[in-house]
Amino acid sequence: MKDTYRSTAHALGDALRHVIEQGGKCSLGVLHQRVTPADVLTGFDGTTQSAHIRSRLDRLPAIARALLVVSYAPRVIVCNCGAACCARHRPNPEYAAALTVLLAHIEPLLTGRVLNVPLRSALVENVLRHTRETNLSIAQRCGTHRSTVADHLTVIEAALVGTRERTGEFDGAFLRIDTLLREAGIVGDATEAQAVQASGLTAGEHQHERCAAVAC
Ligand SMILES: [Zn+2]
Repeated sequence: MKDTYRSTAHALGDALRHVIEQGGKCSLGVLHQRVTPADVLTGFDGTTQSAHIRSRLDRLPAIARALLVVSYAPRVIVCNCGAACCARHRPNPEYAAALTVLLAHIEPLLTGRVLNVPLRSALVENVLRHTRETNLSIAQRCGTHRSTVADHLTVIEAALVGTRERTGEFDGAFLRIDTLLREAGIVGDATEAQAVQASGLTAGEHQHERCAAVAC
């Protein structure tokens, strides 16, 4: 168990990977029920640390929490049950729920535009997780035109991660959890906050530059 994290992004990534199993969700749920997925941290210490971080996350408003979950939680949970029928992974329900919250949140901003849920999902994931999928690839995958992708991207990016003139909602969410984790002594090194200020980047840009691997 870490006594303190030096990075808020790292603390969130660890806590959100630490899935507390509540019954098997595989197709043969009964057979899989007692099996612990491989990527679940085990032991009292990991559980305690994860619970401390998650309890701070749960104090945030729903949108802020969802922004952080989509940014830092794994999209899929690895299953190591060994059953022949098992796909070895399944969607992370916490991630899927957070993405749904964000899709509802951005809906009023996209009024009058085509309702293409895969497109909106892809763009929310692209801006928060920096997946770097091109507009052309998204257009092909989501059955739409590249200009439609660009149009949606402008709106979604401005709202969630901001523009040069205006910070986005992610930055506010990140600063709130950062403050809570530092107050709790879970994140304990001030160098990161200072580095953010010195770099002139927003907190979100800074996190994604340093911690892209943690987020994915
Ligand atoms: Zn399984």
